[in-house]
Amino acid sequence: MEDMGFDLHVHTTASDGKLAPEEVIRLALDLGLEGLSITDHDTVNAINPALEFISRRRISLQLIPGIELNTEAGANEIHILGYYLDHNNELLLLKLQELKRSRDERAYKIVARLEELGLPLDLDRVREHARGEVVGRPHIADAMIEKGYVRSREEAFEKYLDKGRPAYVSRYKFPPREAIELIKRCGGLAVLAHPGLIDDPNLVAEIISMGIDGLEVYYPQHSDEQTSYYLRLAEENGLLITGGSDFHGPDEGNKLGAVQIGRSSITAMQKRLHSS
Ligand code: AMP
Ligand code: ZN
Ligand code: FE
Ligand code: FE
Repeated sequence: MEDMGFDLHVHTTASDGKLAPEEVIRLALDLGLEGLSITDHDTVNAINPALEFISRRRISLQLIPGIELNTEAGANEIHILGYYLDHNNELLLLKLQELKRSRDERAYKIVARLEELGLPLDLDRVREHARGEVVGRPHIADAMIEKGYVRSREEAFEKYLDKGRPAYVSRYKFPPREAIELIKRCGGLAVLAHPGLIDDPNLVAEIISMGIDGLEVYYPQHSDEQTSYYLRLAEENGLLITGGSDFHGPDEGNKLGAVQIGRSSITAMQKRLHSS
């Protein structure tokens, strides 16, 4: 069928998504997707359960192992997607453990900050929202919603958690260059996530010079202008063109499959993997 495609940017409960890996697979199947990549923030914990579910149920869906590494360059948050990386690589798992610890510390500091602001939260409750996995600000937002402090994750970010807001705490420094190197050392392709959210041509150029393999050209929050701009930029630099929905759950913004790319893009990724 012509309209079947791949969604290459999907979160699960292993990070801040609302659906378990198995539920995401089932939904992708219901939607008629040809394949997807699970790209959780700083974790690959969903990949093996998803692969096992697919093989146990003999589901005909292509799962590309992925990750989204949250990095910082100066004042900017840069997300680096990794595809086809060896998700069982020891070096990767070690680094991810370090990132998880720094996230735990950060959550503790944010909760302390919120307490000073008169918005006390139970840190254990935040951890429960994270289901013992990677803790992110969205889980703090979930605990705030439960307490009635805010109505949505968006509101929590806008009022308290975003950079420049009163409960913002910066993270352990993880530069994009290191993330790109780590992905490549694990045999994967590194792709700059949602470049339109950075929207700084110098910074994007700098990341391209670090050896990025591709740009996430197709993204729900990209304007048509941004899409054509990054499409041209990718073509000019011989980079892969990818896309995905950044799905976090049925009631959390972008729908699964909201952005799909065709099989030819997947073929181009595989070709680049084998030529590098
Ligand atoms: P953290 O991983 O703790 O730095 O949190 C960043 C993550 O929170 C992002 O990758 C998004 O998934 C989510 N996020 C960022 N901004 C918002 C927002 N305005 N509303 C809801 N979720 C957001
Ligand atoms: Zn997220
Ligand atoms: Fe992101
Ligand atoms: Fe994402």
